[in-house]
Order: sequence, then structure tokens, then C-alpha cells
Amino acid sequence: MKIAILPGDGIGPEIIAQAVKVLKVFQGEGQPLELEYAPIGGAGYDASGDPLPEDTLRLAQQSDAVLLGAVGGYQYDSLPRSLRPEQGLLRIRKGLNLFANLRPALLYPELASASTLRPEVVSGLDIMILRELTGDIYFGQPRGIRILDSGERQGFDTMTYTESEIRRVAHVGFQIALKRAGASGTGKLCSVDKANVLDTSMFWREVVTEVAKEYPSVELSHMYVDNAAMQLVRAPRQFDVILTGNIFGDILSDEASMLTGSIGMLPSASLDASNKGLYEPCHGSAPDIAGKDLANPLATILSLAMMMRYTFSCEDIAQRIETAVRKTLQLGLRTADIAEPGMDRIGTNAMGDAVVAAIAN
Ligand code: NAD
Repeated sequence: MKIAILPGDGIGPEIIAQAVKVLKVFQGEGQPLELEYAPIGGAGYDASGDPLPEDTLRLAQQSDAVLLGAVGGYQYDSLPRSLRPEQGLLRIRKGLNLFANLRPALLYPELASASTLRPEVVSGLDIMILRELTGDIYFGQPRGIRILDSGERQGFDTMTYTESEIRRVAHVGFQIALKRAGASGTGKLCSVDKANVLDTSMFWREVVTEVAKEYPSVELSHMYVDNAAMQLVRAPRQFDVILTGNIFGDILSDEASMLTGSIGMLPSASLDASNKGLYEPCHGSAPDIAGKDLANPLATILSLAMMMRYTFSCEDIAQRIETAVRKTLQLGLRTADIAEPGMDRIGTNAMGDAVVAAIAN
């Protein structure tokens, strides 16, 4: 299990240090974990003038999985766009051919009051959003701004999906639905599109329906994206796995993640065709709290659990990490971002230690 560790900027190094403590527990138990560090983002720029240094990309390509903190910082805001920290992130995703982005929206009962929705609507919420990451209107050609014969300016983009792009992400979706259903039975997958208006979406629906034939135990449904946006806040528990394209997934995954209320709790995974993955918290580098022992490391630790599940197929380790996080919350331990008024708050380091202690117990 070779893991590239890319702490990045801001709170990145602090939260990654907590996840590494957790990895060391399993290393101590004899898991063959090999960790190697490299700079990315602003740290990459500082080290070698490039937000994705060549050595960092090479290390990521040679590893089985990548654990990333976050990138970005005010001091880099005046750099030309190609040298900005965020470019390191976009380039590493591309360099690793990561086409499937997984974002769970899971509400811990202890944090139910953090959601803006009523507890009876969100309690027990456990959704996985699978977003295609490399196609769609974000990458389709042609695009640009042109001048029409009438002399008026027009902006335009092109929505495209090839059959192979849809097939490969659909397979990931059905396999995740099966994994989540476990031994118990039927998985559920809802494919979200805009097939009533867009040809690309009509084709998406056709291909997903074909792929579904290979997964008879997964129940497939289709939903228009406008309805899905509404259903996510009306009755979000009806969903299990949501499969969708790049632009719809961009919007719906942000909406779904906010159902749980706390950005410091949200992990993510981006996978390639052989389940190699890049794992990172959904939040940014939080420069406002960097270096103050205030950041919540749980999103990063939960990203590690996803790594164990999706890249290494170590379901038992994934569950031990997730159970430890749950126990820590049950004990009433909170970093500032998830603490209710009047609750004691602990720092980044203490939260990492608490999760390690909960794994051992
Ligand atoms: P942010 O996610 O960094 O912070 C938003 C707010 O949430 C801040 O108040 C921050 O303190 C808080 N927050 C974030 N993570 C937290 C955690 N783990 N624990 C406690 N509080 C947390 O978003 P932003 O402020 O818009 O961006 C800051 C920098 O991060 C920018 O340079 C941006 O480009 C970058 N960014 C990077 C990523 C990434 O690396 N994937 C994602 C988003 C933004």
C-alpha cells in the first residue's frame, strides 16, 4: 500500500498529520503501508516554482493512492493563473486520469442540529454522490466568445459525453451501489440528467440503462436534475447512490454536502479506472485558522477510510476508522466548527489523538 502524502497549504499540514497518526496505528498492526511526502499547491510553488512539481506528479503516479490536504493561500493570489496553487490540484487530477468523484453526505446523529433542515428530514441521511469529472460542458469543444453576423457578442460552450465516458462512470456507480448494499441485498442507484431537454442527457440515460443490465440486483431510477435539486432538500433520505455528469454533479454535490451542515466533516475520493484514487477533504486550506490548532481533521481522517474501502478494499479498516470517528463524537468531543454553544472545544491535535484512542479501544 504505497501512499503519496501531499499536505499542501494552510491547514493542510495540520490535518494531514492527524490522518498520518491514524495510518501509523494500522502500520503498527502490521499493514504494509509505505508513506512518502511531496509538496503541492503553494508549497510546490515555494519549493520549485511549480504548483505541481514534476517529482510530486511522478510520486503520485507511482503510488497506489494519494492523500491530499488542501491548497491555496492569500500570498499566492497575485501569481499568474498557471502558477496558482489550485492549478496543482486540477493538473494532478488530470495527470492521474481521475474521472469518478465520490462525495458522501452522511449525517452523524450527534451533529443533526448543524443542518439547516429539520432533524426529522435529515436524520439517518446517508447519500453517495458520484460525479463524472473529466467530460461534459466543462471540457467540450468548441467554446469561447464570438461575434455574430449581427455584430452581437455570444458566449458558448459545448456539452458532450462519449459512450465510453458514460459507461465507465456508470460501472463505478453500480459497483458502489452493490458495495453499499453489502451482503444484505439490493442496491439503489438514481441517475440524474436533463433528458427532457438535452440530447447529451438522452444519450446518457440510454447508456446507463444498458449498463444496468449487467447489475440486475441494483435498482436503477432516473430523475431530472431540477427535480433532484428539489428532492434533495424535500426528502433526501430517498437517495442512496446518485450518479450524474460533471456540471450537474458539481452543483448537486455541494447542495447535498450542506445537508449535513459542517464542512469540516466532508471527505471525498476521486478514482481512475483501476480504483487508484486521490483522497481529500472537501474544504479548502482555511488560511484564516491555519497554524492555530483549530482545524477539524475529521474530513481528512474520513477520506482515509474511503481510501481503505475504494482503493485497498480493506472494508474492515474503513469501518474501524468510521466507527472511531463516531465514538469520538459520541464522547462529546468537538473542534470549534462543530461545537454547539456551551460545549467544550478541543484542538486539531487532540481530535486526532481522540480518534487514534477510539481505534485502539
Ligand atoms: P475554505 O474551505 O478553506 O474555508 C471556508 C471556511 O470554512 C473558513 O471559515 C474556514 O476557516 C472554514 N473551514 C474550512 N475547513 C475547515 C476545517 N477543516 N475545520 C474548521 N473550519 C474549516 O474555503 P475558502 O476560504 O473559500 O478558501 C481558502 C483557500 O482554499 C483559497 O485559496 C481557495 O482557493 C482554497 N480552496 C482549496 C480547495 C482544495 O484544496 N480542494 C477547495 C476549496 C478552496
